[in-house]
Amino acid sequence: MTTTMAGAMTTTLTGPVLFKAACPDCRSCFELASDALRLAIGASSRTTFYSFTCPDCGSAVRKPAGERIVELLTGGGVRTLRLHTG
Ligand SMILES: [Zn+2]
Repeated sequence: MTTTMAGAMTTTLTGPVLFKAACPDCRSCFELASDALRLAIGASSRTTFYSFTCPDCGSAVRKPAGERIVELLTGGGVRTLRLHTG
């Protein structure tokens, strides 16, 4: 029995987790390993974002991270920084 699902992301138990990202500057699309991404969780969703450096143009990209993205990134081993201290 074979089940084919059109999942957005397939995670395997072995090998590095890759996240698809796009650069707003040069419009390049690429896949980044978890250690190339940083996640910052603020007090509200407005201050929660993830950031990475574009491998093509070197631009520092920062994008808002919704609840699902936060789950995805933390589950994939992305380094997380919590901004709301105290
Ligand atoms: Zn770029």
